[in-house]
Amino acid sequence: MSRQTTASTCCYCGVGCGVLIEHDGQQILGVSGDPAHPANFGKLCSKGACLHLTGDLAARALYPQLRLGKRLPRSRTDWDSALQHAANVFAATIAEHGPDSVAFYLSGQLLTEDYYVFNKLARALVGTNNIDSNSRLCMSSAVVGYKRSLGADAPPCSYEDLEQSDCVMIVGSNMAYAHPVLFRRLEQAKRLRPQMKVIVIDPRRTDTCDLADLHLAILPGTDVALFHGILHLLLWEGWVDRAFIEAHTEGLAPLKTLVRDYTPHMVAQLCGINVEQLQACAQWIGTAPSFLSLWCMGLNQSTSGSAKNSALINLHLATGQIGRPGAGPFSLTGQPNAMGGRETGSLSNLLPGHREAANPEHRAQVAHYWGVEQLPERTGLTAIELFEQVKSGRIKALWIACTNPAQSLPDQQSVRAALEACPFVVLQEAFRTTETAPFADLLLPAASWGEKDGTVTNSERRISHVRRAIKAPGEARPDWAITVDFAQRLEQQLRPGKPSLFTFTEPAQVFDEYKHLTQGRDLDLCGISHALLDRLGPQQWPFPSGVEHGTARLYGDGVFPTANGRAQFVCDPYQAAKEQRDARFPLTLITGRLRDQWHGMSRTGTAAQLFGHVSEAVLSLHPDELRRHRLQNGDLVSLKSRRGSVIVAVGSDDGIRPGQAFLPMHWGDRFLKGGINAVTQSAFDPLSKQPELKHSGVRLEPVHLPWHLFALIEGNVQQHFEALRPLCDSFSYLSLSLTGRERPALLIRAAHAQAPDSLLLKDIDHLLGLSHGPVLAYDDPRRAIGKRVRIEQGRIIAIRLAGETLAQHWLHNLWLEGRADEQLRRWLLAPMSTPPGAAGLSSPNNKTLCNCKNVSLNAVCAGIERGLDLDGLKQQLGCGTQCGSCIPEIKRLLAASAQPIAITL
Ligand code: SF4
Repeated sequence: MSRQTTASTCCYCGVGCGVLIEHDGQQILGVSGDPAHPANFGKLCSKGACLHLTGDLAARALYPQLRLGKRLPRSRTDWDSALQHAANVFAATIAEHGPDSVAFYLSGQLLTEDYYVFNKLARALVGTNNIDSNSRLCMSSAVVGYKRSLGADAPPCSYEDLEQSDCVMIVGSNMAYAHPVLFRRLEQAKRLRPQMKVIVIDPRRTDTCDLADLHLAILPGTDVALFHGILHLLLWEGWVDRAFIEAHTEGLAPLKTLVRDYTPHMVAQLCGINVEQLQACAQWIGTAPSFLSLWCMGLNQSTSGSAKNSALINLHLATGQIGRPGAGPFSLTGQPNAMGGRETGSLSNLLPGHREAANPEHRAQVAHYWGVEQLPERTGLTAIELFEQVKSGRIKALWIACTNPAQSLPDQQSVRAALEACPFVVLQEAFRTTETAPFADLLLPAASWGEKDGTVTNSERRISHVRRAIKAPGEARPDWAITVDFAQRLEQQLRPGKPSLFTFTEPAQVFDEYKHLTQGRDLDLCGISHALLDRLGPQQWPFPSGVEHGTARLYGDGVFPTANGRAQFVCDPYQAAKEQRDARFPLTLITGRLRDQWHGMSRTGTAAQLFGHVSEAVLSLHPDELRRHRLQNGDLVSLKSRRGSVIVAVGSDDGIRPGQAFLPMHWGDRFLKGGINAVTQSAFDPLSKQPELKHSGVRLEPVHLPWHLFALIEGNVQQHFEALRPLCDSFSYLSLSLTGRERPALLIRAAHAQAPDSLLLKDIDHLLGLSHGPVLAYDDPRRAIGKRVRIEQGRIIAIRLAGETLAQHWLHNLWLEGRADEQLRRWLLAPMSTPPGAAGLSSPNNKTLCNCKNVSLNAVCAGIERGLDLDGLKQQLGCGTQCGSCIPEIKRLLAASAQPIAITL
């Protein structure tokens, strides 16, 4: 088939960028930003621009696999047998233990149509509210915040507000990494209107701070105190909109009393900032013609997540900064369709159309529409509760779709024990390589990005049509179709003889049934259809029947969807995060994102290019903290919490404060033995039930692991990964990553207390192709040192260093450069392990700063030394000229070369 282009949507974050997929009907060949999509106008970030490089077929689930005993391996089966078996097990479990003995755990990456059929399956057919999604880990505190303060789960703003605002406050979000295309829009707006104030509130000095006029590096978890302190000043200085408060809100009186105690001095001390910073922040908010706040996981993933959201919205209500251009509270959605999930009712407490499962009237409305007698009354389990109940044995059959709880949930030991104990686990997933896959009794291959059709809603309530470009590989099927097939089989057993509830034959039909459940609700989608989106392009809800375009901004009339039409000031006092620093756990672990990886890396972890910027897990610590612990960059430590530990390398970062540590959220057990969530905690917010993934008490313990391993092998990385990962599992420290661009390779670093059995090394060598053929080898059994390099046609193909690995960076660089010269041969056959030249001893590999143009950190630094500014670097090296994701880091390097950065007042 000839080359063609299909307009679709990026599958990563909640910005919801439009992409143009280039393909030949069989394979995706390229991707570019869709200039016509109003979220991104043609721009993509480094992750979106690499979409066509991800999704390695070798990592995909291609056909159903089933095992009939926990200790047995899964074997291939056909769809008919797989789904019939699942239906039989679910029906038998429900018959014996009741509908609440089964549960569904979904994902913010599912399409709206997928979500809807799952909801109908769980609530109308099975009769349980045990249906929750990983959005519980992401947006549920924002949902509670919007509902308590404004009356509905509806972000009131549009992306264009970023361009129109006079004062933008970014809270708890490294927007430069997590929502890069929106950050580019903000950068551009600030460039055009430098008088626009940007405030960043984040315990760390991230790349987002590069844009900030004011950075408040508050102590983790103190946001509510800060917002109350700002409100205190707004009230004291009279920087409030009394007419708006009077006409459109209620509840200020008790809040006023509460915030009277949040004096500038007390708040500054509690938050670890100075009074001048607090006053400047309040003044900019209180006097700006328009004020917009943007936030993400820093507020949501907290035991006070709901209070943080409402305390922030209080500032908008007090200043009347809502419902106007450039103004309003605006949550940045983590996942691509977390909002679609909320719309369809895919949190256990919700029902489709922004209804509540606990509301009898809402249950009756949905039951009537679905043609069933009633919907279940009993409260459903939220993510953390759900896995607790799986562990305790109450849930006996668990259906997981498109998510990876064995990587993403906190307190992994408990989660894994739960999955191990569950009698029947179904995993509906595009990738067979995720951490959750080994726990699946039944693995159902799902279609992935570019292979399925449906809709998603992005952060600004905009619904886009996600279009299929190519056929899914193997026997993979779209999620909605798998669910419908299963539901039809299950209803034959649960509702024999009754007409089917699941007569859908295509996703557009699912959407059409679903949308009528939104009629007359705040999110009314009745005017939207797949065909309309194809005609008019992506649209923002509400979009009721009869209108011609969507709604850019909510609450312009000051009327809120509450019982009396007034927004509500919420009066929650500040409460400290659950795990405070103490003598046993003196550090606070903060988690966050990397620029080029996404969530659990099931997709981004298949592209070597996306490891170029950060290649492996590093625990960032302030230089003083490193000194205090007598640690150097690259040293290994055991990071311990009350729940578990993980061994990880440390790195110096003066962007975080002493007393804190930072570790990216992405590294699961596949890439870092144990995974980061071995240490995080499952304590959750009492209202939103969102866990406090961002804040755990930890300590560092020294490890003595003198025996090191370094291995690299190019070729089929997935195959090598699968073969070598289990073999290396006995090492105390184990890190795997990908490297290279044109010739991807698997990279393994390991450390252990003593040399392993020689047979294990032999097995590793065998898998690395180092046990025969053109291999240069040197062994010193007395010192337990060994080196092996395979060279074919003058190029290094595989490397293994054991015992000590001083030459690893030097060898890695030789491999990257495609060199295998005489110097290498001499070093290989010499008894000493030290590589030629000092650089190989300590310098880390030269990371890729600009992924699009493959420009290294060293090249940028050399350019800066030559006196180039940003424009000069762009012109000479090409960096920052495409997606722009590297620009904040380049600016930081430029600023650091000029003088130390001083963003704060
Ligand atoms: Fe995808 Fe990047 Fe756009 Fe997010 S900002 S939707 S990851 S291209």
